[in-house]
Amino acid sequence: AGRSARLYTEEDPLELLSSGSLKPAVINSSSAWIVQFFSSWCGHCIQYSDTWKLLAQDVKDWQDAIRVGVLDCAQEENFDVCKEFGIKFYPTFKYFKAHSASTDRGVTYRGADREIQAVRQLMVSILQNHTELERPQHCPALEPYRSAELLPLIGQRSDHYTAILVEGPDSFMGREVILDLLQFSGVQVKRALSSELPLLDTLKITTFPSVYLLQPNGSHTHLHSPKPLRFFFSSLLRSLPGVKRSSRLDRPSYTAVGLGDKRAEPMREFNSSQVYIADLEAALHYLLRVELATHSTLEGEELKVFKDFITLVSKLYPGGGSVGRLMETLSDWLIRLPLHTIPYKAVLDLLENRVGIPGVFLGAELRWIGCQGSMAGLRGYPCSLWTLFHVLTVQYDSDQSALRNTGLEGEAAPVLQVMRRYVRTFFGCEECGRHFERAAKDSVDQVENAEQQVLWLWEQHNRVNNRLAGSLSDDPLFPKAPWPSPSLCASCHEEKNGVHVWNRNNVLHFLRRHYGAANLSQRYSV
Ligand code: FAD
Repeated sequence: AGRSARLYTEEDPLELLSSGSLKPAVINSSSAWIVQFFSSWCGHCIQYSDTWKLLAQDVKDWQDAIRVGVLDCAQEENFDVCKEFGIKFYPTFKYFKAHSASTDRGVTYRGADREIQAVRQLMVSILQNHTELERPQHCPALEPYRSAELLPLIGQRSDHYTAILVEGPDSFMGREVILDLLQFSGVQVKRALSSELPLLDTLKITTFPSVYLLQPNGSHTHLHSPKPLRFFFSSLLRSLPGVKRSSRLDRPSYTAVGLGDKRAEPMREFNSSQVYIADLEAALHYLLRVELATHSTLEGEELKVFKDFITLVSKLYPGGGSVGRLMETLSDWLIRLPLHTIPYKAVLDLLENRVGIPGVFLGAELRWIGCQGSMAGLRGYPCSLWTLFHVLTVQYDSDQSALRNTGLEGEAAPVLQVMRRYVRTFFGCEECGRHFERAAKDSVDQVENAEQQVLWLWEQHNRVNNRLAGSLSDDPLFPKAPWPSPSLCASCHEEKNGVHVWNRNNVLHFLRRHYGAANLSQRYSV
């Protein structure tokens, strides 16, 4: 990586190219490419890097059709390749069609507008510039359909949904939604123009853009969207029943990584707009009985982290019941204990209630509800741990006096600090711990109050969701996506200059309600 500042890292949702990887990537590629040749000493490139990362995130799901790359011409090893590709100014944007020849050096984009929306529309145009034969294999036709082609589909049964997006002649939304759904099976998106009068007449379409949905069983209806925005249409189509992300890694590889084809038990019915106490109980169960059990004695820093965690939960746990009492008992016991070393066995005795305090116990069974996965090894514990900490941030926000006299009251973000230390010390997924620690190090100190603490965790969780969407840990039945979805909170979503943005006030309001004590369901809990 050289000594210069690194504007982009492996964690950004784009390809970091270099002298060795540029040609193998863009030549004879099954997808088109747009590459930003930059220089890490150019001030404008530094300022622009955030925009480019946001763009790459925005079009991450288009990558089977067109990919986003960067190459740093300030790195010595890249001097020659930048010369060979004729790069004289930074940044230079070049695009490459799919199946480019080995002599191809790309086409330079000279447009003045480099904002996300303009580059995204350029990407659509690049794809449309391919002939039928050149077009990336995974990219469907982006041309509008005619009434005569669409009308015969109405009333037909099919094995998938067909969404018809009808829009004005200058709109890019249809093409963007088609590309947003590229990695999803179970729905096909077709676009039609607002000039297709026979279609409009038959389907009674009067506003643009709008989406009309042909269901697999032959019935058809308008797709109701709270706002006529790309993000809303794409999210709604992705969450239709049976629509799944078909990752290029192909799902059967789960068997290859040793999870076998063991199916989880039959799914328990649940409502995704609620939070289940059963999930919080399962989180604590797993944490205390499984995760902690790998530490045969707790001492020093580990003991301190464990104590703080138990203190935090005992003061803020809103679930009550026997688990709530158990947390209080555990907390009192830890506080009273003058020991510097605790054998795990002593904690276990308490959990198993061998000490005989009535009404204090932890369920013996792991029962995930909102966190149940479609297959063994998916969701479960990490899902319930996120849920637990979201609940704790919201609970603290509603009653900050709860931590008085605990030693945690001095921290601006006590829940995040304890979570950070817990994850770093005990969380079994080491890689997750490293990522989380890095994020915390970067920005947790900027959290000044309880509100910001709630939002920080939400934002960080969405970063992880973005990174993991389509990866092996993504459950096809519960695909990772920016959360809350438009169907959970329409007012959380807005659009600015053609780019999705959050309304943070409404998100905060939503989080308080969603993770608040009044929205916790007792169903399935012990
Ligand atoms: P989860 O992401 O676990 O979410 C649980 C529930 O929380 C969702 O069902 C939804 O109801 C709600 N939710 C979703 N997003 C948000 C949000 N932004 N704000 C509030 N609530 C939300 N896995 C890796 O492979 N690599 C990692 O680096 C990694 N880091 C992790 C770090 C931490 C601290 C934790 C707790 C987990 C991490 N994981 C990581 C696991 C991963 O994030 C998921 O927990 C796991 O893949 C299960 O995903 P899920 O679909 O059940 O939903």
